[in-house]
Amino acid sequence: MTKHIAIIGGGYTGAAFAIQLSQHASRAHTISVIEPRETVGAGLAYSTTDPEHRLNAPDMVHFVTPDDQQQLRRWFEEQGGARYDAEAEMADGPLFLRRFDFGRFVAEQFISHQNANPSRATIDHIRDRAIDMVKQGASFRIMLESGEDIVANLVVVATSNERPSVPAPFAETVLEHPGFIANPWNIEAVQEISKDARLLFVGTALTAADLIVTRLRLGHRGPITALSRRGFRSTRRTAAGAAYTEPFWNRITRGTSLFVAKHGRQKRLLDVVAALRADIRAAAARGEPWQLPFDDLRDSVWQVWPHLPLSEKRRFMRHLRTRYDVHRFRLPPQVEGKLDIAIARGQLRYRAAHIMSVLAPGDAITVATQDRYSGELRSDMFDAVINCTGPEPRPDRTDNPFMQALIANRLARVHPVGVGFDVDNNCSAINANGASDPCLRIFGPLTIGQFGDPQGTPFILSYICKHMPEIVEVLETG
Ligand SMILES: Cc1cc2nc3c(=O)[nH]c(=O)nc-3n(C[C@H](O)[C@H](O)[C@H](O)COP(=O)(O)OP(=O)(O)OC[C@H]3O[C@@H](n4cnc5c(N)ncnc54)[C@H](O)[C@@H]3O)c2cc1C
Repeated sequence: MTKHIAIIGGGYTGAAFAIQLSQHASRAHTISVIEPRETVGAGLAYSTTDPEHRLNAPDMVHFVTPDDQQQLRRWFEEQGGARYDAEAEMADGPLFLRRFDFGRFVAEQFISHQNANPSRATIDHIRDRAIDMVKQGASFRIMLESGEDIVANLVVVATSNERPSVPAPFAETVLEHPGFIANPWNIEAVQEISKDARLLFVGTALTAADLIVTRLRLGHRGPITALSRRGFRSTRRTAAGAAYTEPFWNRITRGTSLFVAKHGRQKRLLDVVAALRADIRAAAARGEPWQLPFDDLRDSVWQVWPHLPLSEKRRFMRHLRTRYDVHRFRLPPQVEGKLDIAIARGQLRYRAAHIMSVLAPGDAITVATQDRYSGELRSDMFDAVINCTGPEPRPDRTDNPFMQALIANRLARVHPVGVGFDVDNNCSAINANGASDPCLRIFGPLTIGQFGDPQGTPFILSYICKHMPEIVEVLETG
């Protein structure tokens, strides 16, 4: 018997799941991807329209079919290569594509599977938004914003990142102020800011970097401050010469991960950090950059994280996550170059400071801060403030009605670590009673509490591929 599979969210995760299922099923199931955007594949990250927004890692880690690291490069050459995007290729080889191009690439792969796929699955894009879901016997009834509803045998939640929550001092004072942009992915609002505006970015990581280069491209003349508690700027990539000795897909799917093979299974965060530091010192003695041992850990998180006790995971989220992220998510070189120029000419500065208060008596927004290192208290006026504090990690704090419904209807719960949804090791949702449901799966960044770092595209794909045989079995024997 064929089944109906509903995928809620058609970004990279939803598209990759549909593609993999259509390749590996042995029956012609019906796969419906519910996604309000025009295409399936781009999602939030790759539907930006700004040409300055680039992938934060090179072409060979962005693929849809595992094991084919040349996929995106071939696609780029087909588009015209350097004639199509002169800034994409680095002098030492790798490509850092515009994010909208990667979105287009994934969308094309999705469409080609809609047209033909090995299992002859029917793949539909339902251009709608899921707002509610209830269990009906062994199936699920999904309510859509349009008023329609659909019934599915298996549901995959791939709704992912939600816009950042607004930090308290801003939420209390300037939420409605025309100069305050709460949602950094509202690119139109960012583009409308006056060129001479005194600009404040709350957050100093990749989202702030993206939007600073957007403003620079538009000819921004005013001073720009990027501020966060620690003031960390995302780090830089290594030269391509410092290459991995093993293909990337092998690194992230091998039986025993690189870090675990070397250091065993650690139970304490401190021991993980100590092992990493020792590896970095050894690498430095060999003349190698810190990024190589760090990447060995990043590519092993899926085996390191599950062995840490809950208290250690919570400790990581409280104290180490920002530090980890800043080393893990690296600036695309083109973006880094433009930021460096703006810093050198004195237009852009990064600050580590605590926000004490926010006032907006007139047109400007006054932000009082205390410097993290000098303790200096100061008060600055800004014409525009952009909230770049990172996606809201708790599904129950978002305003996504579908995520709210999953919790309210007791079909899923927040992971005990306090981020993402609770899932078992097969990505099955764990409900309010603590039972997992093999017909309700969650993939992508929403599984961060369980897996630690399921965020970049190859990692997301590795979970989908790992569990696909078992999911197909559930569908076809159930
Ligand atoms: C700005 C940004 C840049 C990034 N850059 C990179 C990068 O260069 N390389 C990399 O590997 N990773 C990058 N990432 C990480 C990124 O999370 C993953 O690569 C991947 O894009 C996640 O895909 P996703 O489909 O899970 O999520 P998303 O891209 O967020 O897609 C989720 C989709 O679900 C839809 N949706 C949400 N709610 C509903 C609902 N109720 N009903 C129906 N549909 C719904 C949304 O419309 C959206 O299209 C980036 C992330 C961000 C936020």
